[in-house]
Amino acid sequence: MRERGDSARGLPSVFFSASLRPPVGFLLCLAFAGCSRTPQPLADPNLAAEIRQIKAIDNHAHPVRWVVPGEKPDRGFDALPVDSMEPESDPVALRPGSPALAEASHALYGGQSKAQVMAAKREQYPAWVLDQIGVETMLANRVEMGRSIQPPRFRWVAYADALIFPLDNTALAARTPDRKGFFALEDQLRAHYLEAVGLNHIPSTLAEYAARVVTPTLERQKQGGAIGEKFEAAYLRSLAFDPVDEATAARIYARFAVPVYRRRVRPPGNGSAHPHHGRSGWILRRGRRQSTEPRICLERSRSAQDAFCHAARRLAFHP
Ligand SMILES: [Zn+2]
Repeated sequence: MRERGDSARGLPSVFFSASLRPPVGFLLCLAFAGCSRTPQPLADPNLAAEIRQIKAIDNHAHPVRWVVPGEKPDRGFDALPVDSMEPESDPVALRPGSPALAEASHALYGGQSKAQVMAAKREQYPAWVLDQIGVETMLANRVEMGRSIQPPRFRWVAYADALIFPLDNTALAARTPDRKGFFALEDQLRAHYLEAVGLNHIPSTLAEYAARVVTPTLERQKQGGAIGEKFEAAYLRSLAFDPVDEATAARIYARFAVPVYRRRVRPPGNGSAHPHHGRSGWILRRGRRQSTEPRICLERSRSAQDAFCHAARRLAFHP
């Protein structure tokens, strides 16, 4: 998509040949730009129309399930929900009362409230939101999938971190208040993984742990439709992983597995719902599909479009 400022880059390369030093070329560009009398559109209309036909893949999101009124709120939208972290401020554009959120609310819900629209759409609500923001497929980073968050519109990305921290993480957890809450959550998730394979504690050897817990858990996730594994290791430890031979790893595991055997798994944090933010991914454009829905995201300049989509997604999916 070319914008007005890109006109200089569209000039033939001869303007920047060796015989014309950059400053001269730059002045010529300015001269050409100055001759333009009519304001240029933000984008070539034909190109914009073409782009409007393209649906997107949102490759990193934490969509919240629609639940029946009175049902327990969904907490499966993240292994480490941000309400486990120390308080922090929202990005300026996403704070309550920001113009971007107001615009997204108006475009998504018209004169209705989010609650009214959700009540009308019920379990179709998440997929309906994808239609509104021009997203064909959303990769759902979730502990588990469930009603209203289903393929083909939502594809599962499961969590692996609980598997890579099977031992006593007390020292790591003590480093920061955030980690204290996070490791409690990982302990809880690992307990679910163990339960799913019929165990209530980790096995005493690394080989057994790999065979009875790690492999079956990954296989279960794959059979459940997972197309990838999410690691949130950066929130839990340094990312400087040393290569360790299997014998050394097995010796360390065997030495430290015993205390964990006796350690009870504590339930995490306060459990209140809070939006996930600040870890959003990129929107990837893919393929050409006919859209039957209004493409409210693409009726804007690129930067406004990104801001709008971000706001709409947050507004629509976060509790
Ligand atoms: Zn995330």
